[in-house]
Amino acid sequence: MREVRVRFAPSPTGALHIGGVRTALYNYLLARKHGGTMILRIEDTDQTRFVPGAEEYILESLAWAGIEIDEGVSKGGPHAPYRQSERKVIYKQYADQLVNDGKAYYAFDTEQELDAMRERLKTQGSSDQQYSSGTRNSMKNSLTLSAIDVKEKLDSKTPFVIRLKVPVNEEIKLVDLIRGEVNVNSSQIDDKVLMKSDGMPTYHLANVVDDYLMKISHVIRGEEWLPSAPLHVLLYKFLGWEKEMPQFAHLPLLLKADGNGKLSKRDADKAGFPIFPIDWTDPKTKEFSKGFRENGYLPQALVNFLAFLGWNPGTTQEIFSVKELINAFTLERIGKAGAKFDIHKAQWFNQQYLRAKTDEELSEYLFNSLKTENIDCSVEKAKKICAAMKERVTYPSDFWELGKFFFRAPTQFDEQVVSKKWNDDTTKFLGVYLDEIKKLSLVTAENSKSLLEKTSLITGIASGKIMQTFRVALTGGASGPDLMMTMEIIGKEEVTSRISFALDNIKVRVS
Ligand code: GLU
Repeated sequence: MREVRVRFAPSPTGALHIGGVRTALYNYLLARKHGGTMILRIEDTDQTRFVPGAEEYILESLAWAGIEIDEGVSKGGPHAPYRQSERKVIYKQYADQLVNDGKAYYAFDTEQELDAMRERLKTQGSSDQQYSSGTRNSMKNSLTLSAIDVKEKLDSKTPFVIRLKVPVNEEIKLVDLIRGEVNVNSSQIDDKVLMKSDGMPTYHLANVVDDYLMKISHVIRGEEWLPSAPLHVLLYKFLGWEKEMPQFAHLPLLLKADGNGKLSKRDADKAGFPIFPIDWTDPKTKEFSKGFRENGYLPQALVNFLAFLGWNPGTTQEIFSVKELINAFTLERIGKAGAKFDIHKAQWFNQQYLRAKTDEELSEYLFNSLKTENIDCSVEKAKKICAAMKERVTYPSDFWELGKFFFRAPTQFDEQVVSKKWNDDTTKFLGVYLDEIKKLSLVTAENSKSLLEKTSLITGIASGKIMQTFRVALTGGASGPDLMMTMEIIGKEEVTSRISFALDNIKVRVS
């Protein structure tokens, strides 16, 4: 097998979409699996779409996700520079080669002339109004003008573009590793611009030239680039690089959770979940979008989730460390069908990764929140809270958000439970429990449970009947972690004062 050299080649036109992170990840996994090289190339030839800060954003996002770059922007390497805007002279050389070989030509048509051509074709009833083999002969280009005219125009700096001379009626074949054989007739391709009048190459030329020069073995990218692939194959052929052509793998689209159409930022915004890896503020519109990182997703969980968007290991195992992903990953196991993006699955992965952490690691998350709230807490207590809450959290901030009652006595009580279930049995039971607990020197999960049984015997009320109201009295909420452990954590003083407060303040009675 050829040395694996893959590239992630984003354009710095805004925040990196989560689909872009998946593309980068698949490239990375393949590179690592085969001891290959992962390259980061910034494709910034379209100056009109350049967004300041986007490149830095891409680098930070990849670093956060743990997708390491071996060669490229920020790293350097033997094929530097890796920013296309800095490689203009290189592209020009190949564009000139194509012109000299008769595979491309200069076109001097003005915007008005191009519009006029389209209008003319439209009125003639032609469905295809492109600059192509059918139209190029009636246009102002180096195929129709005399050599002297062309020279005169070039000398006088008349603006021009270089267009590819796409052959008439030729079958272009390519084998995509995911989609199999793709056949396109060249008549379906227009004479694409390769060099723009500002001297910058277009995506197509720069992409092919760089993949060749950077010795790329596999082009792994989103399905939206599949229509460009035949044109790229043609360019490889015209430049004499057929043997060095990389293999193509076009990744399936990311779809909405119901499978109905492509996942867009608008869909994500509407459903209230992130679509960008990290926070992003659009420099032009100032629109702010929260990232997966800031929403509390662990990078390993996100990576595991993304790996499964289009790929599967062929087994039932779902939790994969990056190392395991590298071992298991193959391009053959990527499917053709669009991958449904279900945020609940991402949350599930996050939960699994949080649960796998030690109480000590988790307590760091709680301490982060406590610091901003200015609350002191012993390490022991924090660890106990985390152990109790572990099964209930989705994000690191949930230890605080769902566990505030460990630190603050409730002042409000779940209304539904109170109105439906707070009755004389509750007050009787809690009254006795309160008297009994005062006799203890220390409250533990164990003795508070024994006390529950004792109180049941004394009152003749089954503890199961009052458990939910008991919880509401202690925590304010209708659900939460083990109540006995909760009592141990908050301690005797707090338990007694909370029960007293609840008995004094919850007035609604149901008989
Ligand atoms: N610059 C293209 C993009 O923004 C790269 C496509 C490719 O990988 O060839 O996605």
